[in-house]
Amino acid sequence: MLPALSCRLSNAKNEFVLTSLESWGRTIRSRCHLRRLRWVDEEWHTESSSCLAVGERRSYGDVCLPREKGTALDCRSLDRILHFDPEAMVLTCEAGLRFSALLDFLVPRGFFPPVVPGTKGITVGGAVANDIHGKNHHKDGSFGNHVLSLTLRHHGRTIETSPQTNPHLFRATIGGLGLTGLIQDVTFRLRRIPSSWLLQEHIPFSSLETFLDLDRSSSEEWPYTVSWIDWASRSPKLFGRGVFIRGRETADIPSTRARFERAPTNVGTIPFRPPLRCLSEIGLSLYNSLTLHTRLSSKENGLVHFDPFFFPLDHIENWNLLYGPKGFFQYQAVFPEAKASSALEKLEKVLFDAPIRSFLTVLKRFGSKNPTGYLSFPRAGITVALDFPNIPPHTLDLMERIDQIVLESGGALYPAKDARMSPSLFRHSFPNHSLFREHIDPLFASRFSDRIGLTSP
Ligand SMILES: Cc1cc2nc3c(=O)[nH]c(=O)nc-3n(C[C@H](O)[C@H](O)[C@H](O)COP(=O)(O)OP(=O)(O)OC[C@H]3O[C@@H](n4cnc5c(N)ncnc54)[C@H](O)[C@@H]3O)c2cc1C
Repeated sequence: MLPALSCRLSNAKNEFVLTSLESWGRTIRSRCHLRRLRWVDEEWHTESSSCLAVGERRSYGDVCLPREKGTALDCRSLDRILHFDPEAMVLTCEAGLRFSALLDFLVPRGFFPPVVPGTKGITVGGAVANDIHGKNHHKDGSFGNHVLSLTLRHHGRTIETSPQTNPHLFRATIGGLGLTGLIQDVTFRLRRIPSSWLLQEHIPFSSLETFLDLDRSSSEEWPYTVSWIDWASRSPKLFGRGVFIRGRETADIPSTRARFERAPTNVGTIPFRPPLRCLSEIGLSLYNSLTLHTRLSSKENGLVHFDPFFFPLDHIENWNLLYGPKGFFQYQAVFPEAKASSALEKLEKVLFDAPIRSFLTVLKRFGSKNPTGYLSFPRAGITVALDFPNIPPHTLDLMERIDQIVLESGGALYPAKDARMSPSLFRHSFPNHSLFREHIDPLFASRFSDRIGLTSP
């Protein structure tokens, strides 16, 4: 859970506090009211003229921050599982349910969420509102592709939405950044799993070209793929090498292992807020060399529990604090299929010449399944996620240069990770923004929606 920076209790039940909220990247804060919703049909009134439903605030930028003096409707107590049908492989839950709790419920029963992101610390409402993607996007699409229906508080009324009932509102709410209202509950399809184990392979690559070859040859046979690339080294020999990671579920497990073993608990936590940035470029190149070495050692190939496979970053709970008080930016873009190769080459060159380095860079293919949401981010092509420490003015300058590559390729930026894209880049990224606008509930707004012009303060 992200801590509130300061708070003044304004009622005895601790249901409404004035506070300063931040998100995962810690570059933006909003001073606002925080109302913890206790039950789904609670007659909440807002303490201000604008509000925003929020989950775990694992978004990196400002999609999960209400306006200054607005109200954050904290949905995390709305976390009941309402219906589970193992035959139909369908589950209905309230939107504040955390993925970690969902996994605790599903895995021992032989089921899994249809899509999981790189952390299990998010809520189902957050998964819908950002239409999240995972390592299986090339096969299964994004979370919204598996949602069957939603109950939404919209314009003060409770409304059912699905592809059949209020279909436009349904499409606006999936990937809708919380702007169509408060999602109360979500019904979605599950996948069956033979065990809590996967078979994984780590394959080294030395260049973008070899990454693309590996990706093409793996997409059909391997349901889960992702790559880590070293775009941090200053040495031309090391820059651009990486590891292609692929995995598939397996029932073939040794008798010493339980079929549905529980996930290991977190190994560490940063016990305080470091006053300085703890990650340096030297530390980073050591880390990357070590990671490459470890990932290529034989013990990384073979059987792996789903938890370290899908959620490697969760093993240090609040690693975002290592970037220090100025925080960090994640820049996640997608380059469409036809332009992906040339865009990645341009990006590689810009990054090699840049004064600062991306501390963690991930590449992943998106498949061609049509997303459900008007503002869904995934589309066929290659997505890249870069983590930059916030070093003014270099970080913002560098990201502006990368914006040009995204624009030229007809690509898009991911709002869940964004803290600075311009209104025009948003409009280029999401050509359906006008269709979406019609479904905004005017009571709801975020710092992001004001910044990119979907709403006005
Ligand atoms: C380490 C890490 C790895 C990640 N990996 C991935 C990844 O692989 N793929 C990916 O797609 N994303 C990834 N993310 C991003 C994350 O999955 C999304 O930002 C997700 O939306 C966060 O969910 P949350 O519960 O924290 O929601 P918040 O961040 O609190 O909110 C996100 C949005 O959802 C809206 N919202 C939340 N609850 C409701 C509700 N009940 N009703 C209406 N709107 C609501 C908010 O208004 C906001 O617009 C990662 C994040 C981290 C920190």
